[in-house]
Amino acid sequence: MPPLLRRVALASAVALFAACGKQESAPPPQPAAAVPAAPPKPAPVVPSAEGKTTPAITAEDFASRLQKISGDAFEGRKPGTIGERMSTAWIKDQFEQIGLKPGDGASWIQTVPMVETTLLDADGVSLDVAAKDGAEHFAYRTDMIINALDGRPAVDIENSQIVFAGYGVVAPEQSWNDYAGLDVRGKTVVVLVNDPGFGSGDATLFKGRALTYYGRWTYKYEEAARQGAAACLIVHDTAGAGYPWDVVINSWSGPQPALPPREDPGRRLKAAGWLTTAAAQRLFAKAGANFDELRKSADVRGFTPSSLDAKLTTHFRNKVDNTSSENVLGLIRGSTRPDEAVVYSAHWDHLGKDASLKGDQIYNGAIDNGTGIAGLLEIAEAFAHQQPPPQRSVLFIAFTLEEGGLMGSRYYVTHPSFPLDKTVADINMDALPILGPTKDIAVISWGQSSLDDYIKDAAAAENRTIVPDETPEKGFFFRSDQLNFARLGVPVLYARSGLNLVDGGEDAGRTAYADYTANRYHKPADEYDPAWDFRGVIQDLEAFRAVGQKLADETTFPEWKPDADFHRPPTTTPKPKSQ
Ligand SMILES: [Zn+2]
Repeated sequence: MPPLLRRVALASAVALFAACGKQESAPPPQPAAAVPAAPPKPAPVVPSAEGKTTPAITAEDFASRLQKISGDAFEGRKPGTIGERMSTAWIKDQFEQIGLKPGDGASWIQTVPMVETTLLDADGVSLDVAAKDGAEHFAYRTDMIINALDGRPAVDIENSQIVFAGYGVVAPEQSWNDYAGLDVRGKTVVVLVNDPGFGSGDATLFKGRALTYYGRWTYKYEEAARQGAAACLIVHDTAGAGYPWDVVINSWSGPQPALPPREDPGRRLKAAGWLTTAAAQRLFAKAGANFDELRKSADVRGFTPSSLDAKLTTHFRNKVDNTSSENVLGLIRGSTRPDEAVVYSAHWDHLGKDASLKGDQIYNGAIDNGTGIAGLLEIAEAFAHQQPPPQRSVLFIAFTLEEGGLMGSRYYVTHPSFPLDKTVADINMDALPILGPTKDIAVISWGQSSLDDYIKDAAAAENRTIVPDETPEKGFFFRSDQLNFARLGVPVLYARSGLNLVDGGEDAGRTAYADYTANRYHKPADEYDPAWDFRGVIQDLEAFRAVGQKLADETTFPEWKPDADFHRPPTTTPKPKSQ
């Protein structure tokens, strides 16, 4: 890995915590004048030997589990591969050794049906546009990426009218309709990533710079399908998407998993893809239009969509596999209210390996999401040894198919182990940063529910403060499994170390985080590093454990805030599933 994180950690400024490794108890708050001089960076953590983990949440145990789950032997944990079998078997064994019980009825495993669609001869696939000023050809990977998402063996789109539909958003509560007056049935819709609030920088539009669900690619495809379009192409730009073009390529090439149509009814697109900004500029120019001007016009209320003088043709074939993947569930039964459950979750899946890469071909996914799985196991182990045991049940779920579109959690919430109105909360962990100790916890779900108070108290006990999501424009709230609980009304906590590093402050934190996003996120370089400083992440896990412990011993349910994006549906008579 790049030496940057090491440099950041070594550039020691003021450190609040002298301890390394174990941090079961937080140091007492001290007046600023009494803060001791910075201790040196702790020696590298020696991971616990396999099978020798302890009930406490420790850096040694966490490192051991993280190193294991992100090792090359797991081949990048891609659903449908040998890496999946290794991953789910290992997580199940860990749950069992920790002392959990099966969490899906009598089973550790919940089978998630999926259909996997693989583009054949991908590099020979092109988009051919016949436009006003002649024909234009768009090449796979360099200009665009295209897929069928629903298991069609063949996609044939011939002279489909191309339409520019702004951000592709229909938001009645915002009085916004990018499809106003437009019939896109059978047509190819080109839309912008993100939403008008981001594009315009106008704080009164949508949520300003903060991403809304309307800005997510999932929504764009859903809406285009509802409108009856044949295809939808999203124009990528790094600021709007929150990640560079090669992340699009890595995520959208190779086998594409989806829930089968019976689990996900509704209209579907024949083809869904992305264009680079440069490709969009070229396409629009051929049609005698100016992409940059049209893009600006989409930021303004009253935007009208337009048909381009261009038609799209593409033909491709897919290999279709009806298969399944696995959520792994472990349970601690509550001592007095076992029919109510607090859920901890983290996705185990990642991107697998890519034989076409030179050098390292394995996407180890150490941060994303080896950290979440290692954290899930550490918290489960702490709960399993807790005396007295939790009053409510505590359910630990390792989700599959997060990377492909949050499908493991989407399946779980419609086939839950506990009715959702008996599900107290979901505490989700995804890509916990390992930047060393931080002065703050960033709460991505901030402002949504009374869980804000729980994490605030837990942070205060560690002498840390709370900050809201530092990059709301990236829409992290919509990019992991907690979203599926929230959409069905279960309050969620999604948080992690902030960027205000004890050693180096916010500038160092931002630099280190930007380095991760640019150089390691969804790349083979997301690998375990023996030099990592685990002090911050261990504190995060202690805070999450404290929140869940409080929830598990209460009789009340956390509540959504009145102006939250989500709400619990009116209570229906719950049908408890026997455990
Ligand atoms: Zn992730």
